Formats: sequence, C-alpha cells, structure tokens
Amino acid sequence: MPLPSSTVIAPAPTFGFRPALRDLQPYSAGRGAEAVRRELGISGRIVKLASNEGPDGPFPSALEAMAEEMKQSNRYPEPGFGSLRRAIAEKHGVPVERVLVGGGGSAILHHLAMAFLDPEDEVAYCAPTFTAYRLEALKMGATPRTAPLTAAGSFNLHALLSLVGPRTKLVYVCNPNNPTGGTVTRASLSSFLEALPHDVLPILDEAYFEYVDNPEYPDSVAEYAEYGRPLVALRTFSKIYGLAGLRVAYAVAPDDVVRACMTLQNPFEVNRLGLAAALASLNADEELTRRRAANRVGRERLAAGLRGLGLDPLPSEANFLAIRVGDGDRVAAALEMRGVIVRSLGSMGDPSSIRITVGTLEEIDFFLHQMDEVLAEM
Ligand SMILES: *Cc1c(COP(=O)(O)O)cnc(C)c1O
Repeated sequence: MPLPSSTVIAPAPTFGFRPALRDLQPYSAGRGAEAVRRELGISGRIVKLASNEGPDGPFPSALEAMAEEMKQSNRYPEPGFGSLRRAIAEKHGVPVERVLVGGGGSAILHHLAMAFLDPEDEVAYCAPTFTAYRLEALKMGATPRTAPLTAAGSFNLHALLSLVGPRTKLVYVCNPNNPTGGTVTRASLSSFLEALPHDVLPILDEAYFEYVDNPEYPDSVAEYAEYGRPLVALRTFSKIYGLAGLRVAYAVAPDDVVRACMTLQNPFEVNRLGLAAALASLNADEELTRRRAANRVGRERLAAGLRGLGLDPLPSEANFLAIRVGDGDRVAAALEMRGVIVRSLGSMGDPSSIRITVGTLEEIDFFLHQMDEVLAEM
C-alpha cells in the first residue's frame, strides 16, 4: 500500500543529515525469489543463484541446536557473545580478546569503518569487488581508492600497494575475491603485508575461506604470527555454513580493534538462534568437508557447462563463477523471466558480466538449460 502523501519524507537538509549521506541510497541486494515471483508473475520453479548462499541449508547439528534454543527466545542473547567467542578462540588457538563476533561480515565491516574513518581518510582495494568496502567508506565521508584486479580476477597486490598514501587508514584484500573468485597466494600476501606501512590496517576478507583447497592459499588466522603485523581476518557463517538468514560472522583481530568494534556494536546484534547455530556448526568438520567437496564438483560442472555454451568463466576457488556475457543486466533479466536469479555485476562496476552461485547439481543443470535458451534468443 502506498504511503499517504502527508507522510512523504522531507528532503535531507531539513533534518540536518550528515553530508556523507546525501548521495547514498539503501543497499540494493538484488531481487529475492519472492519478489521475482510476485513482480514477474512467475508461477513455476524459481532457482536463486544470486547471493552465494550455500544451497544445502544449515548443518544438521545447527538445526538441532536451534530447535532447542528457540524455546529460550523470551530471553536476551548472551551479552558479549562469550560462548561463541570462546569456541572460536579455541578452534583457532588465539586469545578470546582477539575474537569479534558480529551480525554478519557486513556488520563487522560497518563497525570497522566507524572505528577508523574520518572524512579526510582514504581506504584502498581492488575492483570489482564486494561493494561494502566502498559503501562503508562513503557512509563515513571517507574516500575509496581503487586499482584493477589481475586479468585472472584476483586482487593485484602491487597495484593495491601503490594506492597507499599518507591518508590511507584501511586496505581491503578480498580473498577469494567476490565476484570473480580469484585468490592471492601466501607468498604474494606475505610480501604485500611486509611492504604495507604499519599505520595502515589490512582487512583480509575471507568470506569464502572454507571453500578453497589450494595449498598456496593463505590462512591469515593461522599464519598471523608469521606476518609480524596487526591485521583483521574476517570469516562468516553465511556461506558454506548455510546461515546467511541468521546473520553471524566473526573476525580475528588485534584486541584493541575488537574492543573498539564491540563498543560500537549493538550488544545483542546476533540473536540466540544465530549464536546457537554458529556454535553447533563450528566444529562439524565432516559436514564442512562434504560441502567443500560438493561445491568443487558443482563448480566444475557449472564451468564445463558454461564452456559448452561458448562462454569463458574466470577461474574461481569459491562457490560462484563470473562470466562476461556482453550486457549483464539484459542476460540477468532474461534469466529471471525463466525463473533463474543470478547477479548482474553492473552494481559492482562490471556491467558486461554476471555472477552465478554454485547451487545443487540439479539447480546447475536447470540454470544451464535456461542459459542456453537465453543465449539463443539474444
Ligand atoms: C558474503 C560476503 C561477506 C559477508 O556476508 P555476511 O552475510 O554479512 O556475513 C563478506 N565479504 C564478502 C566478500 C562476501 O561475499
């Protein structure tokens, strides 16, 4: 129902909004299955391969823990998220003071930006990449500086280093990079971190860490001590753990950075179900291994299928593939009409490409079939 005209929101300056907000809009995450069904009037099957969600639902151990925890929903969550933080600290062999738990990686990125950025500051990263780095900087009135990715779709750490100047506060390394799937090696990350000035905080976004099985891929939590400098390593329960709808993530970081972010965050920003599900997923190694292997099989099937259609996916170590299709918006819209939701990369700065999440084998085959027909129509 439209709002009555008397409730139209007044222009920004009336309320003295911060100048940084004037050119920003609410984040557009793309359409969900419900919206596509409603807006396009699609009655048949809808397959969502647009947000890099794990296709299998939560781990069985997490479902069980949530069913039990649900009965306690009248009680606030544990303040400070101590149980989950202690379990993460134990898993990684770090002090609990170095573990931050937040309402998704997005919330942690938000609090990091709030903790560090003033309007005269800069952040640096390669692009196209996860849009939060840009948006969080803009919200604080800070300035993003970007360099291109390598041709293979990974962060170009030489180019990134050249962006760092006296105003740079934060640098982001998305590894594997979303939306392209490329990774940087341990050796190149290590020399990058060595060359990075000590007053710049590197944020290593490892949202897809658990999918990678390349021995050259660095584990910035386990290898932290070897880098000999402070950094933030970000991991999430939204992807391989299948908990995107619950909003839980964590970072391993210097303890003063953890404390600053905990000062800024809502003490209850992760709810009871999210905490219980994350705790019950954390050490379910067998299920994790099974999902990593299933993703690899699916990713190879998807890549082979795309090559069979004459397309050339970038080499990806994560649970998605990016391909150049000419007009990303047009191809994504045609796929939506056929019940497949993928992400056009225009909003990430690459209007010629789309990104497809690795779904179940059946979803992949459904996508490939629809993609074949879309290409024939174009
Ligand atoms: C999905 C994702 C995140 C975190 O997502 P949350 O659901 O907010 O935990 C962070 N970085 C990248 C690159 C991602 O793709």
